Amino acid sequence: MTYQEAMLKAFEVVSHQKSRGQPATYIPELTKVDSEKFGVHIHATDGSEAGTGHHREAFSIQSISKVFSLCMAYTLLGEGLWHRLGVEPSGTAFNSLVQLEADRGIPRNPFINAGAMVICDILISQFKDPKTEFLTFVRKVAALPHLHYSSRIAESEKSVGNRNVALCHFIKSFGNIHNAPEEVLDFYFNLCSLEMSCQEVSRAFLFLANGGKTIEGEEILNPSQTKRINALMQTCGFYDESGEFAFKVGLPGKSGVGGGIVAIHPHHYCISVWSPRLNAKGNSQRGVDFLELFTTLTELSIF
Ligand code: GLN
Repeated sequence: MTYQEAMLKAFEVVSHQKSRGQPATYIPELTKVDSEKFGVHIHATDGSEAGTGHHREAFSIQSISKVFSLCMAYTLLGEGLWHRLGVEPSGTAFNSLVQLEADRGIPRNPFINAGAMVICDILISQFKDPKTEFLTFVRKVAALPHLHYSSRIAESEKSVGNRNVALCHFIKSFGNIHNAPEEVLDFYFNLCSLEMSCQEVSRAFLFLANGGKTIEGEEILNPSQTKRINALMQTCGFYDESGEFAFKVGLPGKSGVGGGIVAIHPHHYCISVWSPRLNAKGNSQRGVDFLELFTTLTELSIF
């Protein structure tokens, strides 16, 4: 079965299943999205692409954006990055505070909120205008020159972001946030506010399936760095469901509470799914179901 056939088949099967889970309600703006939206798109490293459903509609990519910020910080700091945060799965929810005290403010990995905030802090220390620099980086990687932050979503999250405020100040108390927490949080909420379609997400992340190079040939990361980012997505991309995602799907990936998931098959393709209803771990229910069936039908995964 070709990728396109498997994608269409898995989409059809999952669309006919009863929808389960609930969309994220803690960010007021996200509750306005139709929870029955469902789209998928695949870009292969040979340049072919295909999509179906609401694959051209922009959604809030939320934590998927943390892969971009990690890649950007990695290109700037190299291995020095890992003095500020770990590379171990946390086994806890994305917004958990519990391990930070024992770990003395060093987040377990860059994808939990705490780790993403340390990455924001690193970027703030590097640039006068980190928000613009980050946008420039994502526009380049995604080949989307008009991509912008959604102030509507960033403000909405800021209005209810007490837990993230707590996380940031807590890390600061251990000295692992160097800038003003307000500045770090503002950057963090903005980077989570990017809106992209499945088609755009699968194109933007194709470099991670292509040894670190965009399909136009521009090197974003070297092959060793690319391996490490994919390894982190495999072990930490789905928070306390990362093991289960590896077990069911067998690909590195990253989720966001907007209901998006991006998954990478190194040297083959990048696939993206969007369906806003989330399971108990905060990952798209249909997204996981679709990807599980997709890799079952293709009989290919990294394992
Ligand atoms: N902006 C969201 C938050 O901080 C991102 C979480 C996610 O997508 N898992 O809560």
